[in-house]
Formats: sequence, structure tokens, C-alpha cells
Amino acid sequence: MQYQMRRAIPKAKWLNILENCNFRCYYCNHRTTLIREHFIPLSRGGSSRVENIVASCVRCNIQKGTSTGPEYLKWMRFLYFAGMGPKPINFCAECGKSLVSQVMQCGC
Ligand SMILES: [Zn+2]
Ligand SMILES: [Zn+2]
Repeated sequence: MQYQMRRAIPKAKWLNILENCNFRCYYCNHRTTLIREHFIPLSRGGSSRVENIVASCVRCNIQKGTSTGPEYLKWMRFLYFAGMGPKPINFCAECGKSLVSQVMQCGC
């Protein structure tokens, strides 16, 4: 948490991230208030570079905690199939990258 505010990303880059996410939460696709989220947490070796920032809803941000993006998405998928959570984005199981509907691998 103490790292969160240390290096703010430029507003233009943040807008870019929001556009890439279609102004929806990267994880659950919810259109709501979005905040900057480290895909790989800094505490898990993630960087504070723009490439590691996604737009996330507050709910996902809190639930994700110190999980990595792929870990959280797998957990979401589990909850979804158990009927206990929203449908996660279609993602690559390896790197957690968001995938367009039919594609199942990103080639990472
Ligand atoms: Zn979300
Ligand atoms: Zn991948």
C-alpha cells in the first residue's frame, strides 16, 4: 500500500488504459468507478510501469489483494462456476491477458 501513491502514472497513460479496458473493470467487466490496479502486485515483484497497471473496480481491487492477475482470474472463474461471483473476462490461463471471445491462447 505504501507504494501505491509513490509514482503516479501520467493522466494520458491512465486514459489510455481506461480506453483499452473499454472503461470497464479489467477483471469482471463491470462498468463502474475504476481505479489503478497493479496486475502483478509490487509485493510479488510487479513493476509500477504502465504495462503492469490495469483499470479495476474497487471490489476486484480489494478481493484480489496480493494475488497476481492470473491467480485472481482463476479464483474468479472458480467462484463463477460455483455460482458465487461475476463472470470473469476471457483470459489466458498462463499470463492472465485478456482475450477476445473466441481466442483461447495469446501466444505468450
Ligand atoms: Zn471488477
Ligand atoms: Zn498468455
